[in-house]
Parts: sequence; structure tokens; C-alpha cells
Amino acid sequence: MLFLCAIVLPACAGEHFAFVQMCDPQFGFGGYKRDVLRFQQAVRQINELQPDFVVVCGDLVNIASIDGTMEDLAKEKSAFRMPCYCAPGNHDVGAVAPELLAQYRRVIGPDYFEFEHKGQVFLMVNSELWAVTVPEESPKHDAWFESCLKKASAEGKPIFVAAHRPLYVSSPDEPSDAWNIPLETRKRLLALMERHGVVAWLSGHIHRTVLNDYKGIQLVSSTTTSVNFDEQPLGFRIWHVGEVRPYRHESIPLDLSNICPGVRVTGTVSGLRPNEGCVVVVISGRHTPEHWSIEALQRLERQSYSVEVVKDGKLALEGPPKETVTVVVVAHTPGPKGLQVRFASIVLDPLQCGDKPLSFVFQPEQATSTAPAAGAE
Ligand SMILES: [Zn+2]
Repeated sequence: MLFLCAIVLPACAGEHFAFVQMCDPQFGFGGYKRDVLRFQQAVRQINELQPDFVVVCGDLVNIASIDGTMEDLAKEKSAFRMPCYCAPGNHDVGAVAPELLAQYRRVIGPDYFEFEHKGQVFLMVNSELWAVTVPEESPKHDAWFESCLKKASAEGKPIFVAAHRPLYVSSPDEPSDAWNIPLETRKRLLALMERHGVVAWLSGHIHRTVLNDYKGIQLVSSTTTSVNFDEQPLGFRIWHVGEVRPYRHESIPLDLSNICPGVRVTGTVSGLRPNEGCVVVVISGRHTPEHWSIEALQRLERQSYSVEVVKDGKLALEGPPKETVTVVVVAHTPGPKGLQVRFASIVLDPLQCGDKPLSFVFQPEQATSTAPAAGAE
């Protein structure tokens, strides 16, 4: 009997394997070039670890409508030496915009699909089709999901779901908001998952690590390679799948020691109006447009090294590489038609970057221009 079990080990006990969960590479959220460099570092580390495959829980890019961003992600992920499976996020497909969904399918591939690995079934889902109901898409996605669950559970196979959105963050019956799956849909999904032997729901979206357990189902939102809101190091999560549940998993921080060896940019921003928020964007190259605009910044998005929020009038950026950069400070207030924005900018030559603090002064009479409001994460 022991001999037999040893021969047919996969059926007896399940084969052990490891896979990686990545979340929100979101090229452009923390500075485009910076986010790409961090993703490249994750690829290097993951290739060394040699898991069987990688799943990416959505928000591959920050602004999917900028030409070439989705292609950049596709190119970078082709460096993995193992399969890499992606699920789309709200930043990839909007809510849900037909042209963005079409772009995603053309550049990345299907937005939902299943695959099987060593006796476990993985469902890569498009959770945006649960966040909003798209008449031409959501019912098809629902029917596909349910039939996959039924088939896998009839075959006695454990099921992983990889999504962008968490089902919930704090409690299964929390109200619907921008960070979870709407309550009614969530209840239906939880009941289905419980009935059909789902073992885990992997997600991103909230840019922080949240580990929940729903009746034995592991619900894991993990660390990102772009920006974390919870002060955890940037990184990814490795899962160890075997016969013992709950499955063990751990986050692996990115080794940032060789990325962007540069200088720090520090300084102050003054002249802000009450309730005016402020971000600073560092862009590669010399840019001196007469009037900055959000559109001009968006055109330069793929050249950006860093995007940071200015706190208490003070800015301190991790250093861009030693090349000429333009530092743009964007002061913004919500207005009836969108954001009211004012700009200040300075070009820094390589030798100027460094110790000298910069000073950005907004004048009270400086006019604002209107820019469309930015979307939620
Ligand atoms: Zn998201």
C-alpha cells in the first residue's frame, strides 16, 4: 500500500509546489520608471527562487489609456522564466470600459480563464465584472465561474481564485465600497466558494497586506511592487502548496540595493492655499513647457521616476538616477468640474541633484487650471 501511494503520490497526497502572488505592479503609480525598475527586480528575484508559476492580482498599470503602458508590462513579464498569469484590475480595464477591456485582451490575453497545476485548479477572474454589472460581460463571467467551480469540485480538486479586489477587508458583511466586492455579490460568491471547496482567494487592490479566513478559505491581499500604504516593504508573496492546510505563505521583500542608485531630492513648498493638496513628480529629461498641464504630465508619464505626496510643505524623494530631471510640483484642490491645479517646476542637471534643498513658492495670484478628477485606486 505504501509502495502504491509512493508511485501515485499526486493522487494520494497532492504534490508540493510553490507559486508567487504579485499585486499591483501598477506602472506609473509611484513613478513610471521607478515602478518598472522594481518590477524588473521582482522578476530577477523570482527567477532565482524558481517557483512553478506567478499570478499577478491586477492593476498591471496605473493609466491604461496611455499608449504603450500595457505593452511595457507585457514586455517586462516576458522575462519570467516560468508561466505568469494575470488578472485585470480597475486601473487596467476601468469600470469596465469596452476599449480598455479590448486592449487588455489584445495585449495581455483573456481577462478570465482557468488553469490546473499538479491537481489544483486556479481561476483567474475579472473582479471588475463583479464590482460593476456589464450586461454584455458580467453574466458570461458569472456562468463561467460557477461552471468551473462545479467541475473542479466534482473532480475533488482544490480551487484557488486569483482576483484583483478582495471580497472584503475587515468583515464579511462590511458595506460595499471602492475597496471590496459589493455586499450582495460577495455573499453569493462566499456561499458558492464554501460549497465548492475553494481554498484561497488571492487579491491586491488595497496596497496593503490583509490576511483573512472565511470558514477555512484563505483570503490574502498582499504586498505590491509599486506603492504600499501600510509601510510594509515592497515585494511579493510566495505560497507553498502541499497536503496540509492552511497553506503556508510568506512575503519576500524586494532587494532595492541596486536600483536607482542616485541622490535625494529634498526641499520645501510654500504659498499653498488652505485645503490645497500637493504632489511632486520627477521626470527624466529637460522639460520647460510654458504652461504645465495635467495633459502635459500624462504625455510624460512613462518618463517619470517618482511621484510623491508633499507632506507639511516638505518634499523628500528617493533619488532619481544621475541624469537631467525636471521636478514638477502640482498643487491641487477639488473643484466642481474636477481638480483645480497649479504648477511649479525646475530643471535639475545631474550635478545639481543632491544636497541642496529646493524651494518651490506658489504665488497667491497664480491662476489655476482645471483637470479631470483622478479615479480611485
Ligand atoms: Zn485597484
